[in-house]
Amino acid sequence: MKNIVWLIMVMIALLMSACGDVTTDVEEEAGQDKEQEQTTGKEEKEQPHEENEESAYQETQDEQNQADSAEPVYRIDDETSSVIPIDEKATEKVVLLTVDDVPDKYALEMARTLEKLDAKAIFFVNGHFLDTSERQDALQQIHEMGFEIGNHTNSHSYLPDLPEDEQKEEIVSLNDTVEDIIGERPQFFRAPNGANTDFTRQLAEDEDMVLMNWTYGYDYFEPYMDAEKLTEAMVTGKAPEVDVPHSLLKPGANLLMHDREWTAAALEDIFSGLRDKGYKIVDPDAIQTRE
Ligand SMILES: [Zn+2]
Repeated sequence: MKNIVWLIMVMIALLMSACGDVTTDVEEEAGQDKEQEQTTGKEEKEQPHEENEESAYQETQDEQNQADSAEPVYRIDDETSSVIPIDEKATEKVVLLTVDDVPDKYALEMARTLEKLDAKAIFFVNGHFLDTSERQDALQQIHEMGFEIGNHTNSHSYLPDLPEDEQKEEIVSLNDTVEDIIGERPQFFRAPNGANTDFTRQLAEDEDMVLMNWTYGYDYFEPYMDAEKLTEAMVTGKAPEVDVPHSLLKPGANLLMHDREWTAAALEDIFSGLRDKGYKIVDPDAIQTRE
């Protein structure tokens, strides 16, 4: 008899939950599990629960940033420049945003866009853009918004064409300049055109910088100097008009963008498109450095 009463109660509970009018214990437990998964970064997909997608995303991103800032959970792969998790807490489905040739005309605007979206990035600067107090001030503001400042050489020269003393000058003098402006030396280095020498690789290491190129970027190819076409290419990872018919978008992708008008115009849509595909943006603070 007790069993029959119990069975009826369970059936009533099931009927009520199926109507969606009540929150059962089962649902609450499921919610807790999900939250734990998101905190530990094992859950890759967004699963908004009684909230709109935007705020659910925001919450997850905040949790991730908080978890990440404590200690590095990613490294940059030497060969591919991809972002590789080194901690089981780290979300695998991430991309790194980088902006090169900074601060020319649009870097500050791009930083403000990313700040509004709560997306972090590395801004790779050139010394020849830091020749006026206005641009030095722009760099200072980008730094104060919480973005990582990387070294992209003093004059954007092709390093393999230079004698070693000039290669050194290109890199070390910019670290000095950046330190004068923001009070910190860059922890990341990217050579112009991705062209390093054995000497610059060693020098980056001696200067305590992590060296990286990128995995894809299209804003410097003529067919993609257009916000809409660039957005499509960055979000799909494909750029058929420059012979990239297969997607290069994958977990750990290192995305190259520049201080350019069409890239600044596309930035928010690129972010939204990546987010809609379930990607999170890596906080460079969560990447292992040499110091
Ligand atoms: Zn460049």
